[in-house]
Amino acid sequence: MNILVLNAGSSSLKFQIIATDLERIRQDTDVRLLRGEVDRIGGEAVITIQKGDGPKQKLTATLRDISAALDYIIRWIASPDSGISEINSVADIHAVGHRVVHGGELFTESVLISEEVMKGIENCIDLAPLHNPTNLRGIRAIRDLLGHQMPQVAVFDTAFHHSLPEHSYLYAIPYHLYLRYRIRRYGFHGISHRYVAYRYRLLRGIDREKANLVSLHLGNGCSAAAIRGGISTDTSMGMTPLEGLVMGTRSGDVDPAILSLIALKEGIPLNEVETLLNKQSGLLGISGLTNDMRALLSEIREHDDRRASLAVEIFCYRARKYIGAYLAAMGGADAIVFTGGIGENSPEIRARICEGLEWAGLSLDDGKNNEAVGREGLISREGSRLAAYVIPTDEELLIARDTARCILGEPNPS
Ligand code: ADP
Repeated sequence: MNILVLNAGSSSLKFQIIATDLERIRQDTDVRLLRGEVDRIGGEAVITIQKGDGPKQKLTATLRDISAALDYIIRWIASPDSGISEINSVADIHAVGHRVVHGGELFTESVLISEEVMKGIENCIDLAPLHNPTNLRGIRAIRDLLGHQMPQVAVFDTAFHHSLPEHSYLYAIPYHLYLRYRIRRYGFHGISHRYVAYRYRLLRGIDREKANLVSLHLGNGCSAAAIRGGISTDTSMGMTPLEGLVMGTRSGDVDPAILSLIALKEGIPLNEVETLLNKQSGLLGISGLTNDMRALLSEIREHDDRRASLAVEIFCYRARKYIGAYLAAMGGADAIVFTGGIGENSPEIRARICEGLEWAGLSLDDGKNNEAVGREGLISREGSRLAAYVIPTDEELLIARDTARCILGEPNPS
Protein backbone atom coordinates (compact mmCIF):
# COMPACT_ATOMS: atom_id res chain seq x y z
CA MET A 1 0.00 0.00 0.00
CA ASN A 2 1.18 3.53 -0.74
CA ILE A 3 0.53 5.64 2.35
CA LEU A 4 0.58 9.44 2.31
CA VAL A 5 1.90 10.58 5.69
CA LEU A 6 1.04 14.12 6.78
CA ASN A 7 2.39 16.26 9.58
CA ALA A 8 0.59 19.60 9.45
CA GLY A 9 1.89 22.63 11.36
CA SER A 10 0.53 26.17 11.49
CA SER A 11 2.40 27.40 8.41
CA SER A 12 4.19 24.31 7.21
CA LEU A 13 3.29 20.83 6.07
CA LYS A 14 5.62 17.84 6.03
CA PHE A 15 4.66 14.89 3.88
CA GLN A 16 6.00 11.52 2.78
CA ILE A 17 4.81 8.61 0.72
CA ILE A 18 5.79 5.26 2.17
CA ALA A 19 5.03 1.89 0.57
CA THR A 20 4.28 -0.61 3.31
CA ASP A 21 2.07 -3.55 4.25
CA LEU A 22 2.04 -6.26 6.92
CA GLU A 23 4.71 -8.32 5.16
CA ARG A 24 7.01 -5.33 4.66
CA ILE A 25 6.53 -4.35 8.31
CA ARG A 26 7.54 -7.86 9.41
CA GLN A 27 10.57 -7.85 7.11
CA ASP A 28 11.43 -4.18 7.87
CA THR A 29 11.48 -3.49 4.12
CA ASP A 30 9.11 -0.52 3.83
CA VAL A 31 10.10 1.86 1.01
CA ARG A 32 10.13 5.66 1.24
CA LEU A 33 9.06 6.86 -2.20
CA LEU A 34 9.01 10.56 -1.51
CA ARG A 35 9.51 13.11 1.22
CA GLY A 36 8.77 16.79 1.16
CA GLU A 37 7.81 19.93 2.98
CA VAL A 38 5.70 22.96 2.19
CA ASP A 39 6.85 26.11 4.00
CA ARG A 40 5.26 29.56 4.27
CA ILE A 41 1.71 28.38 3.62
CA GLY A 42 -0.50 31.49 3.47
CA GLY A 43 1.67 33.29 0.94
CA GLU A 44 4.32 32.47 -1.63
CA ALA A 45 4.99 28.91 -0.46
CA VAL A 46 8.20 26.97 -1.02
CA ILE A 47 7.82 23.26 -1.71
CA THR A 48 10.86 21.05 -1.20
CA ILE A 49 10.64 17.51 -2.55
CA GLN A 50 13.04 14.59 -2.47
CA LYS A 51 12.38 11.34 -4.30
CA GLY A 52 13.87 8.30 -2.57
CA ASP A 53 17.45 9.26 -1.75
CA GLY A 54 17.70 11.55 -4.79
CA PRO A 55 18.50 15.28 -4.85
CA LYS A 56 16.12 17.86 -3.38
CA GLN A 57 13.90 19.77 -5.76
CA LYS A 58 12.43 23.19 -4.93
CA LEU A 59 9.15 24.56 -6.31
CA THR A 60 7.19 27.69 -5.47
CA ALA A 61 3.45 28.38 -5.59
CA THR A 62 0.95 30.72 -3.99
CA LEU A 63 -0.86 28.53 -1.46
CA ARG A 64 -3.37 30.32 0.74
CA ASP A 65 -4.03 27.52 3.24
CA ILE A 66 -3.43 23.87 4.08
CA SER A 67 -6.20 22.75 1.77
CA ALA A 68 -4.53 24.51 -1.19
CA ALA A 69 -1.17 23.04 -0.15
CA LEU A 70 -2.59 19.50 -0.07
CA ASP A 71 -4.35 19.98 -3.39
CA TYR A 72 -1.05 21.13 -4.90
CA ILE A 73 1.10 18.28 -3.59
CA ILE A 74 -1.44 15.55 -4.39
CA ARG A 75 -1.78 16.80 -7.96
CA TRP A 76 2.00 16.94 -8.26
CA ILE A 77 2.49 13.45 -6.83
CA ALA A 78 -0.10 11.98 -9.21
CA SER A 79 1.27 13.84 -12.26
CA PRO A 80 3.95 12.46 -14.62
CA ASP A 81 6.20 15.33 -13.35
CA SER A 82 6.75 13.49 -10.09
CA GLY A 83 8.30 10.52 -11.89
CA ILE A 84 7.28 8.10 -9.12
CA SER A 85 6.74 4.86 -11.01
CA GLU A 86 4.56 3.36 -8.25
CA ILE A 87 2.06 6.25 -8.51
CA ASN A 88 0.39 7.01 -11.80
CA SER A 89 -2.81 8.58 -10.49
CA VAL A 90 -4.52 9.58 -7.24
CA ALA A 91 -5.97 6.03 -7.09
CA ASP A 92 -2.45 4.76 -6.33
CA ILE A 93 -2.54 6.56 -2.97
CA HIS A 94 -4.25 3.98 -0.76
CA ALA A 95 -4.52 5.71 2.60
CA VAL A 96 -3.52 8.81 4.52
CA GLY A 97 -1.91 8.82 7.98
CA HIS A 98 -1.93 12.01 10.05
CA ARG A 99 0.23 12.99 12.97
CA VAL A 100 -2.24 14.41 15.48
CA VAL A 101 -0.71 16.24 18.40
CA HIS A 102 -3.17 15.76 21.25
CA GLY A 103 -5.34 12.72 21.87
CA GLY A 104 -6.11 13.64 25.50
CA GLU A 105 -7.32 10.71 27.59
CA LEU A 106 -9.61 9.63 24.78
CA PHE A 107 -7.12 8.17 22.32
CA THR A 108 -4.65 5.63 23.61
CA GLU A 109 -3.72 4.25 20.19
CA SER A 110 -3.90 5.04 16.49
CA VAL A 111 -7.41 4.97 15.01
CA LEU A 112 -9.20 4.91 11.69
CA ILE A 113 -10.79 8.35 11.35
CA SER A 114 -14.59 8.58 11.46
CA GLU A 115 -16.96 11.46 12.26
CA GLU A 116 -16.84 10.35 15.89
CA VAL A 117 -13.03 10.37 15.94
CA MET A 118 -13.03 13.86 14.44
CA LYS A 119 -15.37 15.01 17.23
CA GLY A 120 -12.99 13.44 19.73
CA ILE A 121 -10.01 15.32 18.26
CA GLU A 122 -12.13 18.48 18.37
CA ASN A 123 -12.88 17.85 22.04
CA CYS A 124 -9.12 17.88 22.71
CA ILE A 125 -8.72 21.38 21.23
CA ASP A 126 -8.74 22.93 24.72
CA LEU A 127 -5.61 20.90 25.46
CA ALA A 128 -3.81 21.83 22.22
CA PRO A 129 -5.40 25.01 20.88
CA LEU A 130 -2.60 25.63 18.37
CA HIS A 131 -2.14 22.14 17.00
CA ASN A 132 -5.36 20.12 16.94
CA PRO A 133 -7.32 22.60 14.77
CA THR A 134 -4.53 22.46 12.15
CA ASN A 135 -4.57 18.65 12.25
CA LEU A 136 -8.35 18.68 11.79
CA ARG A 137 -8.08 21.05 8.85
CA GLY A 138 -5.68 18.58 7.22
CA ILE A 139 -8.10 15.67 7.77
CA ARG A 140 -11.07 17.63 6.39
CA ALA A 141 -9.06 18.85 3.40
CA ILE A 142 -8.14 15.26 2.48
CA ARG A 143 -11.78 14.22 2.77
CA ASP A 144 -12.81 17.07 0.47
CA LEU A 145 -10.03 16.35 -2.02
CA LEU A 146 -10.00 12.55 -2.06
CA GLY A 147 -13.52 11.70 -0.88
CA HIS A 148 -15.00 9.94 2.18
CA GLN A 149 -13.91 6.52 0.95
CA MET A 150 -10.20 7.38 1.32
CA PRO A 151 -9.15 5.72 4.60
CA GLN A 152 -7.50 8.16 7.01
CA VAL A 153 -5.78 7.24 10.25
CA ALA A 154 -4.87 9.47 13.20
CA VAL A 155 -1.60 8.71 14.99
CA PHE A 156 -1.36 10.66 18.25
CA ASP A 157 1.77 12.20 19.70
CA THR A 158 0.40 11.64 23.20
CA ALA A 159 -0.75 8.01 22.80
CA PHE A 160 2.51 6.24 23.70
CA HIS A 161 2.39 7.95 27.10
CA HIS A 162 -1.12 6.69 27.94
CA SER A 163 0.60 4.08 30.10
CA LEU A 164 1.93 6.69 32.54
CA PRO A 165 0.83 5.71 36.04
CA GLU A 166 -1.25 8.19 38.07
CA HIS A 167 1.69 9.07 40.28
CA SER A 168 3.62 10.39 37.29
CA TYR A 169 0.80 12.04 35.36
CA LEU A 170 -0.98 13.89 38.18
CA TYR A 171 0.16 17.36 39.23
CA ALA A 172 0.15 18.02 42.95
CA ILE A 173 -2.68 20.54 42.65
CA PRO A 174 -6.27 20.20 43.93
CA TYR A 175 -7.55 16.91 42.54
CA HIS A 176 -10.86 18.42 41.46
CA LEU A 177 -8.98 20.44 38.80
CA TYR A 178 -8.00 17.16 37.18
CA LEU A 179 -11.57 15.89 37.42
CA ARG A 180 -13.08 19.12 36.09
CA TYR A 181 -10.63 20.05 33.35
CA ARG A 182 -8.41 16.99 32.85
CA ILE A 183 -5.41 19.04 33.91
CA ARG A 184 -2.62 16.45 34.07
CA ARG A 185 0.58 15.52 32.32
CA TYR A 186 0.06 13.90 28.90
CA GLY A 187 3.53 13.95 27.36
CA PHE A 188 4.44 14.44 23.69
CA HIS A 189 6.98 13.17 21.12
CA GLY A 190 5.29 9.81 21.79
CA ILE A 191 5.63 8.68 18.17
CA SER A 192 9.37 9.33 18.34
CA HIS A 193 9.92 7.71 21.75
CA ARG A 194 7.89 4.68 20.65
CA TYR A 195 9.90 4.35 17.44
CA VAL A 196 13.18 4.61 19.35
CA ALA A 197 12.05 1.94 21.81
CA TYR A 198 11.13 -0.34 18.90
CA ARG A 199 14.53 0.13 17.17
CA TYR A 200 16.28 -0.39 20.48
CA ARG A 201 14.57 -3.77 20.89
CA LEU A 202 15.60 -4.74 17.36
CA LEU A 203 19.22 -3.64 17.92
CA ARG A 204 19.50 -5.62 21.11
CA GLY A 205 17.40 -8.54 19.94
CA ILE A 206 15.17 -8.39 23.00
CA ASP A 207 11.43 -8.62 23.65
CA ARG A 208 9.37 -5.58 24.52
CA GLU A 209 9.17 -6.53 28.22
CA LYS A 210 12.95 -6.40 28.45
CA ALA A 211 13.29 -2.85 27.10
CA ASN A 212 14.34 -0.55 29.97
CA LEU A 213 15.72 2.71 28.66
CA VAL A 214 15.76 6.47 28.98
CA SER A 215 15.01 7.99 25.61
CA LEU A 216 16.09 11.58 24.91
CA HIS A 217 14.47 13.33 21.95
CA LEU A 218 16.56 16.48 21.46
CA GLY A 219 15.40 18.58 18.51
CA ASN A 220 13.85 22.04 18.48
CA GLY A 221 11.48 20.58 21.04
CA CYS A 222 13.11 18.30 23.59
CA SER A 223 11.77 15.59 25.86
CA ALA A 224 12.91 12.59 27.87
CA ALA A 225 10.95 9.38 28.43
CA ALA A 226 11.41 6.67 31.02
CA ILE A 227 10.55 3.46 29.21
CA ARG A 228 10.24 0.43 31.46
CA GLY A 229 9.19 -2.97 30.20
CA GLY A 230 8.71 -1.39 26.78
CA ILE A 231 6.09 1.10 27.96
CA SER A 232 6.33 4.77 28.87
CA THR A 233 6.28 5.25 32.63
CA ASP A 234 7.27 8.91 32.81
CA THR A 235 8.07 11.73 30.43
CA SER A 236 9.27 15.29 30.78
CA MET A 237 6.65 17.19 28.77
CA GLY A 238 3.41 17.75 30.63
CA MET A 239 -0.05 19.11 29.97
CA THR A 240 1.59 20.99 27.06
CA PRO A 241 5.01 20.63 25.40
CA LEU A 242 6.39 23.46 27.57
CA GLU A 243 7.42 21.43 30.61
CA GLY A 244 10.68 19.60 31.16
CA LEU A 245 13.96 19.98 29.31
CA VAL A 246 15.43 23.24 28.00
CA MET A 247 14.46 23.54 24.31
CA GLY A 248 15.21 25.80 21.35
CA THR A 249 12.79 28.52 22.40
CA ARG A 250 10.92 26.89 25.33
CA SER A 251 11.99 27.25 28.94
CA GLY A 252 11.06 23.78 30.15
CA ASP A 253 10.59 23.59 33.95
CA VAL A 254 10.21 26.90 35.79
CA ASP A 255 8.76 27.90 39.13
CA PRO A 256 5.11 28.68 38.22
CA ALA A 257 5.22 31.65 40.60
CA ILE A 258 7.44 33.57 38.18
CA LEU A 259 4.62 33.82 35.64
CA SER A 260 2.63 36.40 37.57
CA LEU A 261 5.81 38.18 38.64
CA ILE A 262 6.90 38.58 35.00
CA ALA A 263 3.37 39.71 34.08
CA LEU A 264 3.41 42.34 36.84
CA LYS A 265 6.94 43.64 36.25
CA GLU A 266 6.74 43.66 32.45
CA GLY A 267 3.14 44.92 32.38
CA ILE A 268 1.95 42.16 30.09
CA PRO A 269 -1.01 39.76 30.40
CA LEU A 270 -0.47 36.15 31.50
CA ASN A 271 -1.03 34.71 28.04
CA GLU A 272 1.86 36.82 26.77
CA VAL A 273 4.05 35.45 29.55
CA GLU A 274 3.16 31.98 28.35
CA THR A 275 4.15 32.99 24.82
CA LEU A 276 7.43 34.34 26.20
CA LEU A 277 8.12 30.98 27.85
CA ASN A 278 7.23 29.16 24.61
CA LYS A 279 8.83 31.37 22.00
CA GLN A 280 11.53 33.56 23.54
CA SER A 281 13.10 31.32 26.15
CA GLY A 282 15.26 28.17 26.13
CA LEU A 283 18.52 28.35 24.16
CA LEU A 284 17.34 31.53 22.45
CA GLY A 285 16.38 33.26 25.68
CA ILE A 286 19.57 32.48 27.55
CA SER A 287 21.98 33.13 24.68
CA GLY A 288 20.10 36.11 23.24
CA LEU A 289 21.38 34.84 19.88
CA THR A 290 19.58 31.85 18.43
CA ASN A 291 17.49 28.76 19.14
CA ASP A 292 19.69 26.71 16.83
CA MET A 293 22.12 24.43 18.65
CA ARG A 294 24.49 24.10 15.70
CA ALA A 295 24.74 27.90 15.40
CA LEU A 296 25.33 28.22 19.16
CA LEU A 297 28.15 25.69 19.08
CA SER A 298 29.89 27.51 16.25
CA GLU A 299 29.41 30.84 18.06
CA ILE A 300 31.19 29.33 21.07
CA ARG A 301 34.00 27.91 18.92
CA GLU A 302 34.52 31.12 16.95
CA HIS A 303 33.80 33.87 19.49
CA ASP A 304 33.83 32.14 22.86
CA ASP A 305 30.46 33.79 23.55
CA ARG A 306 29.69 33.57 27.29
CA ARG A 307 25.91 33.44 27.07
CA ALA A 308 25.99 30.93 24.25
CA SER A 309 28.18 28.72 26.50
CA LEU A 310 25.79 29.23 29.37
CA ALA A 311 22.79 28.23 27.25
CA VAL A 312 24.51 25.00 26.17
CA GLU A 313 25.61 24.26 29.71
CA ILE A 314 22.12 24.70 31.12
CA PHE A 315 20.68 22.59 28.29
CA CYS A 316 23.08 19.70 29.03
CA TYR A 317 22.75 20.00 32.79
CA ARG A 318 18.96 19.78 32.66
CA ALA A 319 19.10 16.72 30.37
CA ARG A 320 21.58 14.99 32.70
CA LYS A 321 19.39 15.81 35.70
CA TYR A 322 16.39 14.15 34.02
CA ILE A 323 18.46 11.06 33.20
CA GLY A 324 19.41 10.79 36.86
CA ALA A 325 15.82 11.31 37.97
CA TYR A 326 14.52 8.66 35.61
CA LEU A 327 17.20 6.15 36.57
CA ALA A 328 16.09 6.62 40.16
CA ALA A 329 12.39 6.49 39.26
CA MET A 330 12.82 3.32 37.17
CA GLY A 331 15.17 1.55 39.55
CA GLY A 332 17.89 1.70 36.89
CA ALA A 333 17.86 1.15 33.14
CA ASP A 334 19.97 -0.67 30.57
CA ALA A 335 20.48 2.18 28.11
CA ILE A 336 20.18 5.84 27.24
CA VAL A 337 19.13 6.56 23.67
CA PHE A 338 19.70 9.87 21.86
CA THR A 339 17.49 11.01 18.99
CA GLY A 340 16.22 14.23 17.31
CA GLY A 341 18.36 16.74 15.35
CA ILE A 342 20.71 17.46 18.27
CA GLY A 343 20.71 13.93 19.71
CA GLU A 344 21.46 12.36 16.33
CA ASN A 345 24.06 14.85 15.09
CA SER A 346 26.00 16.33 17.97
CA PRO A 347 28.64 14.09 19.61
CA GLU A 348 29.71 17.14 21.63
CA ILE A 349 26.31 17.63 23.28
CA ARG A 350 25.91 13.90 23.88
CA ALA A 351 29.31 13.78 25.57
CA ARG A 352 28.50 16.79 27.74
CA ILE A 353 25.17 15.33 28.82
CA CYS A 354 26.84 12.04 29.72
CA GLU A 355 29.68 13.74 31.65
CA GLY A 356 29.74 12.54 35.23
CA LEU A 357 27.31 9.68 34.68
CA GLU A 358 30.05 7.12 35.45
CA TRP A 359 28.41 6.57 38.84
CA ALA A 360 25.44 5.17 36.95
CA GLY A 361 27.68 2.75 35.04
CA LEU A 362 27.93 4.77 31.83
CA SER A 363 31.23 4.74 30.03
CA LEU A 364 31.06 6.57 26.72
CA ASP A 365 33.31 5.47 23.85
CA ASP A 366 34.65 8.75 22.43
CA GLY A 367 35.56 7.22 19.07
CA LYS A 368 32.16 5.61 18.55
CA ASN A 369 30.40 8.74 19.80
CA ASN A 370 32.25 10.93 17.30
CA GLU A 371 31.49 8.54 14.44
CA ALA A 372 27.76 8.20 15.12
CA VAL A 373 26.55 11.29 13.31
CA GLY A 374 23.13 10.96 11.70
CA ARG A 375 23.23 7.20 11.95
CA GLU A 376 22.31 4.42 14.32
CA GLY A 377 24.95 3.01 16.64
CA LEU A 378 26.18 2.06 20.09
CA ILE A 379 28.29 4.89 21.56
CA SER A 380 29.24 3.41 24.92
CA ARG A 381 32.19 1.09 25.59
CA GLU A 382 31.82 -2.67 25.48
CA GLY A 383 30.91 -3.75 28.99
CA SER A 384 29.48 -0.35 30.02
CA ARG A 385 26.79 -1.27 32.58
CA LEU A 386 24.57 1.51 31.23
CA ALA A 387 24.77 1.52 27.43
CA ALA A 388 24.25 4.57 25.20
CA TYR A 389 22.93 4.56 21.64
CA VAL A 390 22.14 6.98 18.86
CA ILE A 391 18.92 6.02 17.06
CA PRO A 392 17.70 8.42 14.36
CA THR A 393 13.98 8.84 14.77
CA ASP A 394 11.51 8.07 11.99
CA GLU A 395 8.08 9.25 13.04
CA GLU A 396 6.76 9.06 9.48
CA LEU A 397 7.58 5.37 9.18
CA LEU A 398 5.68 4.62 12.37
CA ILE A 399 2.70 6.67 11.16
CA ALA A 400 2.71 4.78 7.83
CA ARG A 401 2.89 1.42 9.59
CA ASP A 402 0.12 2.28 12.07
CA THR A 403 -2.00 3.46 9.15
CA ALA A 404 -1.47 0.19 7.28
CA ARG A 405 -2.15 -1.87 10.41
CA CYS A 406 -5.34 0.06 11.24
CA ILE A 407 -6.69 -0.42 7.73
CA LEU A 408 -5.77 -4.09 7.57
CA GLY A 409 -7.31 -4.74 10.98
CA GLU A 410 -4.04 -5.63 12.67
CA PRO A 411 -3.64 -4.37 16.26
CA ASN A 412 -1.04 -1.65 16.71
CA PRO A 413 1.69 -2.50 19.17
CA SER A 414 2.33 0.23 21.73
P1 ADP B 1 12.46 19.58 14.93
O1 ADP B 1 12.29 19.36 16.41
O2 ADP B 1 11.93 20.89 14.47
O3 ADP B 1 12.09 18.39 14.07
P2 ADP B 1 15.20 18.75 14.56
O4 ADP B 1 14.94 17.43 15.20
O5 ADP B 1 15.61 18.76 13.13
O6 ADP B 1 14.02 19.77 14.73
O7 ADP B 1 16.35 19.45 15.42
C1 ADP B 1 16.79 20.75 15.15
C2 ADP B 1 17.97 21.05 16.07
O8 ADP B 1 19.03 20.13 15.78
C3 ADP B 1 18.53 22.44 15.88
O9 ADP B 1 18.83 23.03 17.12
C4 ADP B 1 19.81 22.18 15.09
O10 ADP B 1 20.79 23.16 15.28
C5 ADP B 1 20.23 20.87 15.73
N1 ADP B 1 21.27 20.21 14.94
C6 ADP B 1 21.18 19.68 13.70
N2 ADP B 1 22.40 19.24 13.29
C7 ADP B 1 23.27 19.51 14.29
C8 ADP B 1 24.68 19.33 14.49
N3 ADP B 1 25.43 18.75 13.57
N4 ADP B 1 25.22 19.74 15.66
C9 ADP B 1 24.47 20.32 16.60
N5 ADP B 1 23.14 20.53 16.48
C10 ADP B 1 22.56 20.13 15.35
